[in-house]
Amino acid sequence: MSIFGKFDRKNLRKSIAKRQSRLLKENEDIANVFKMVPTKYHIIINDVPVGFLSPSLAEKQKISDSRLENLKKLHISKDELFEMMDLSDPENPPSELFFPECAKLLKDIEFLMQKEWRFSEDEACHTWWCKAPHCTCPKLDNAERFGTKYKIIREDCPLHGNKVK
Ligand SMILES: [Zn+2]
Repeated sequence: MSIFGKFDRKNLRKSIAKRQSRLLKENEDIANVFKMVPTKYHIIINDVPVGFLSPSLAEKQKISDSRLENLKKLHISKDELFEMMDLSDPENPPSELFFPECAKLLKDIEFLMQKEWRFSEDEACHTWWCKAPHCTCPKLDNAERFGTKYKIIREDCPLHGNKVK
């Protein structure tokens, strides 16, 4: 993942964990949801739970513990990528193709996630691509088109727009 360039992944993880522990301290409802999930499903960065995998989906898909571990690693890579994008300015990106390359890496991560979830690898069922920082593509319209090959891309999106292709 050479795209990380000047970004230190250790520092990225540090800032993710810091923000999340603040959120868990300030928001009891969110903290309680985390407490309701069995530990092995938690995605942990620097001892802080930053998310969790769905226990019911894991059961339905018969996900082994080693697949669970791989999924958690993929989520951490995605979180690091999002943090790096969040810290970068689309008006002044670290390199010309930085955001499109981030979008490409995210797509690879989503394919790997589908594989570990034992789903067929299908771009139509990707969910993270338009949740990435600085993506300006319409969220609801794209959520409605989940599972179809139709996407609504905004031309001025730094990640997906025409300008960058
Ligand atoms: Zn976009």
